Amino acid sequence: MKITFPHMGRMDIFIKGMVKALGMETVIPPTNSKKALDLGVKYAPEFVCLPFKLMLGNLIEAFEKGADTVIMVSDKGPCRLGLYGLPMQIILKNLGYKTNWLILDTPHALYGLFQLGIEKDVVKYRDKLTFVDGLLAFHFGWKKMLAIEEIERLSLKIRPYEINKGDTTKGLYQGMEAIESADNLYDLKKAKDAVIKDLRSIPQDRNRRPLKIAIAGEIFVVLDSFANLDIEKKLGELGCEVDRTIWFSTHILHHVGLDKFMRRSKRKAVRAARPYLKYPVGAECNATVGYAILYAKEGYDGFIHLMPFTCMPEFVASGILTRVSKDYDIPIFTVELEEHSSQTHLMTRLEAFVDLLHRKRAKKKVNS
Ligand code: SF4
Repeated sequence: MKITFPHMGRMDIFIKGMVKALGMETVIPPTNSKKALDLGVKYAPEFVCLPFKLMLGNLIEAFEKGADTVIMVSDKGPCRLGLYGLPMQIILKNLGYKTNWLILDTPHALYGLFQLGIEKDVVKYRDKLTFVDGLLAFHFGWKKMLAIEEIERLSLKIRPYEINKGDTTKGLYQGMEAIESADNLYDLKKAKDAVIKDLRSIPQDRNRRPLKIAIAGEIFVVLDSFANLDIEKKLGELGCEVDRTIWFSTHILHHVGLDKFMRRSKRKAVRAARPYLKYPVGAECNATVGYAILYAKEGYDGFIHLMPFTCMPEFVASGILTRVSKDYDIPIFTVELEEHSSQTHLMTRLEAFVDLLHRKRAKKKVNS
């Protein structure tokens, strides 16, 4: 069995780490790229959202490399993610790819792995598979992903202070590679500590006062740097300290109910949105509205809302954010992403937004 899955941010680190610990084979599609996007655009329905197109392109690339079993996360609720699996299966079948599918829409769906016969496949590589083996593999994959997220978070804090543009991004990519190649927990810790040390030693100008900007919105485009045109890097290099509201780990913790004590959990954001939204709209809509309120209360300078073109839940959020922006006096910029989005266009708009935030901050200083 050659397992594959569509990319969503750095979820691949978690799955690769886990599967590596079990000694199994995965066929990881290349990270999202123009090629995946072109394939997705060619075979997907025209008005479907950007994540569908990228995931479809991803899977085609994986099948070309020999994958035969798809595992993909899904969701319930009104947005299209809950329905992705079926149309994708039909499109891929029509293209001649014969594959097994496992859609993970609830934690219980994991039992489907046994219907696919995964345990027999694992046993091919090991004498026998025990529950503890499974647990240790999960733990290793999870730790690897947390290590990647830790260095990504650190890079967001360091980038606005870097003296030589690009140092942080270079250090981050090298660090990701080092962490990815770790084979056990000891090597993983050693690699992570070395990366953190290297990132901290990047020459920085600590006299700067970066603008603070939060990024929220639809999960796929928030997590995937190709889909969001590397917006975090662009903002960092424009001198802004970015805080991302969604991480793969926080998304999982929310789904299993373990995010109760987190400072800015999705459940707190959903609660904060209640004066504007009393019912769940689906996907990240309620949380997006709530995060704008939470970050405005924390004194953030601006808020960026990312949404794929034609995304219903985020379209609802964008309408409400206009009111939130006025009520909480926080500038909000909604970025709609689709296959024709251009780097230059986004950069020009970001420069204008950052300029507006600087002027607002200066005005506030004069009035205080
Ligand atoms: S949240 Fe929006 S973009 Fe994401 S799958 Fe649902 S409809 Fe598509």
